Amino acid sequence: MSKLKNKVSVITGGNSGIGFGIAEAFRNEGAVGAITGRNQETIDQSVKQLGTDFIGIAGDVTRMEDLERIFKETFDKFGKIDTVVVNAGGAVEGSPMAAITDVTENNYDQYMDLNLKSSYFTVQKALPYLNDGASIILIGSSAAHRAAPGMAIYAAAKAAIISLAKGLSLDLLERKIRVNALSPGSIDTPVFGKIVPEEHVEQVKQIWTNLIPVGRMGLPSDIGKAAVFLASDDSTFIVGTEILSDGGMTNIS
Ligand code: NDP
Repeated sequence: MSKLKNKVSVITGGNSGIGFGIAEAFRNEGAVGAITGRNQETIDQSVKQLGTDFIGIAGDVTRMEDLERIFKETFDKFGKIDTVVVNAGGAVEGSPMAAITDVTENNYDQYMDLNLKSSYFTVQKALPYLNDGASIILIGSSAAHRAAPGMAIYAAAKAAIISLAKGLSLDLLERKIRVNALSPGSIDTPVFGKIVPEEHVEQVKQIWTNLIPVGRMGLPSDIGKAAVFLASDDSTFIVGTEILSDGGMTNIS
């Protein structure tokens, strides 16, 4: 299989969960490139699993200088960048999602910074290094379409990502750079251990599973396959839109 042969990709948050699933799917289709995250240990483990065509770059996506360095180092190593997967995000450690009465201004800013602001500036900092015709994939969430208690800020940030995909794809049309959102439903990743106490993780996963018509949680590889499609030349007529991969969850009330 070689849908992404020699395409150079940057996958933020590629050291865990969905990001790693995307990196594996890209590697399986012949891509090379960089995965990022903040945790050097999991970056090193993930690079080891991916093999020699991938490098790991540590950086915080909420810091402009780190974003600039991530794209410069990737370009210096590979000479071009064809695909960016803007995946890092989700839960802010030490800042659980909460009901409106418990949310501080700082909680709000942290969620918006990690999930929305960082997505916008990841694209901006990638631009000087991107090929014309590149594909940018913004990882959204089914949370943008289906409300869940205590998740209003996260859901609003992810909903805005769909608007970013529409707006940025117009802004970047001249360079034929495509921007699309890929929104996962409930995917089995380490995030659950970050948002609920360890002893409740399995119970929470079961609750989500019961909401999914296909009867299972998604896997990082499910999102990886959809990301391969959006990164590949099979999707060159798909511009500024959203693909939902959620096992049908947002179709039921
Ligand atoms: P994980 O917690 O497994 O992965 C989150 C990734 O983001 C990690 O690689 C983490 O790396 C990175 N990250 C977090 N904060 C920062 C930061 N400040 N700077 C750089 N990297 C950061 O979660 P998932 O794989 O589940 O989530 C990945 C994406 O998918 C997120 O955008 C999430 O919102 C979205 N999503 C997930 C769903 C799910 O059910 N799992 C559903 C819908 C959307 P490190 O810890 O090393 O910093």
